[in-house]
Amino acid sequence: MADTIFDKIVRREIPADIVYENDELLAFRDLNPQAPVHVLFIPKKAIPTLDDAAPEDAALLGRLLLAVADYARREGFAEQGYRVVNNCREYGGQTVYHLHLHVLAGRRMGWPPG
Ligand code: AMP
Repeated sequence: MADTIFDKIVRREIPADIVYENDELLAFRDLNPQAPVHVLFIPKKAIPTLDDAAPEDAALLGRLLLAVADYARREGFAEQGYRVVNNCREYGGQTVYHLHLHVLAGRRMGWPPG
């Protein structure tokens, strides 16, 4: 499986502004933020895309989503609202092939996305 920049962040080979970690998940600020809050939540397990997620990943992905919601409450933007995005493959706009959720907050989001 191809090594990505996010695997290097997990292994602390390159720096990142880490905001949350447990044994199976990591969250860090996006290098190119698209909102006042722009954090990436990843499973440490290298699943390239959402399409590659398997039935045995169901609980992990559930905990990933719940970790996002918990973070939003702790950081105080849950009530105002926020957006969670997964870009899947080429047409989804994915550039890093290690499954991740973008968490965007701090401004009103438009719809439809570009
Ligand atoms: P995607 O385009 O959905 O695959 O999202 C990849 C995201 O990773 C982009 O928003 C990039 O700005 C972000 N990114 C790339 N390299 C880094 C890095 N070293 N640290 C933090 N964010 C990064």
